[in-house]
Amino acid sequence: MPNKLLIKDAVLALPSGPMRCDLLCDGHRIVAIGRALEADGAAQFNANGLTLGPGFVDIHVHGGGGYSFFSSDPREVTAYAAWAPRKGVTSLLVSTVGPNADETTAMLASLEPAIGVHSPAAEVLGFHLEGPFLNPARRGAFHPDMLREPVREEFLRYQEAARGHIRQVTFAPELPGALALASAIVVSGATAAIGHTDATLQETNAGFEAGACHVTHLFNAMRPMHQREGGPIVAALLNDDATCELVCDGAHVAPEVLRLAYRALGPNRTVVVTDNLHLAGTNTAMGHFGGLEVEAETGVAKRRDGTIAGSVETMDQHFRNAVRFLGIDLATAFRLTSSNPARVAGAGKRKGLLERGYDADLVLLDGNVEVVATVCRGDLVYLADEGRTA
Ligand SMILES: [Zn+2]
Repeated sequence: MPNKLLIKDAVLALPSGPMRCDLLCDGHRIVAIGRALEADGAAQFNANGLTLGPGFVDIHVHGGGGYSFFSSDPREVTAYAAWAPRKGVTSLLVSTVGPNADETTAMLASLEPAIGVHSPAAEVLGFHLEGPFLNPARRGAFHPDMLREPVREEFLRYQEAARGHIRQVTFAPELPGALALASAIVVSGATAAIGHTDATLQETNAGFEAGACHVTHLFNAMRPMHQREGGPIVAALLNDDATCELVCDGAHVAPEVLRLAYRALGPNRTVVVTDNLHLAGTNTAMGHFGGLEVEAETGVAKRRDGTIAGSVETMDQHFRNAVRFLGIDLATAFRLTSSNPARVAGAGKRKGLLERGYDADLVLLDGNVEVVATVCRGDLVYLADEGRTA
């Protein structure tokens, strides 16, 4: 079936400023942007002045809508990918790790077929391996038995099981063997990300020198900032080449702290992530994370001892929060939720921008910044109000 989709009369949130015009998708790509576009046989969507931006790219997500990536069942991933567009998400990295090396290897091998599938759903770009090479002192909600010192060969086995689809690995640079691991991650084509770390400023910088260029949920699960030992936070904020994840639910990090971090990071280095658990976007309050019970309350899921296990606010809410907390316009917010994370995931040449030749991954937002419709690779896969299509 030829699938052309013509979106009429949208306000494109472009870095150069808002532009009211049409956008034409042919197959899975954007092929034209301009005024009074016409296309024979194209399905038409009348946006009537809705904001149009690049779909959200969530590179740190463990599930949502009741589906969990701590599983060996690829249907959990495909079901999530079908659900996520209702929150504006059009691509993602599956963030996961197993309880031990054998199970991690088996999980990656069995989830791998869900990557790159051409279905009308969000595209799974690959894996974000969050662990097992993390510092137990900053483990967050991970069970200490899951964590180990870095072994380069172990990572290479994971990358092989994932058929090269691990796109990001979070590791603690102060652990023995971490710097050799960092260069192996980079050589394998993935992003080496510093996180769950008790590193000093110097140890963090050594991690950057070894190839790390990204920081996993800045502020959370890392040595806090001290005036005489800046630790990973100051090292990250001062490194102009490093991108940093911010969880923008308002609970992981106080809005004022997010705002301060954004002043240092700017629009090119900030990456909004959800760190969502399977409970996100559901009415369920109780669940499990890393073998431990968690309970959802005001935006986050917490363990019994109060440790935050992840966010339950979905990506659309993180986007609205970013606009409000950071005081930025919609086009800038799309850089934080779409183009910057696409780059970190190695998909910056085809995802995250409204440009000819880019994948037609689109989200339409109303005046309250609520998701009205989502297009995944040219397919209109979510429509909040069915009455809008012509
Ligand atoms: Zn996480």
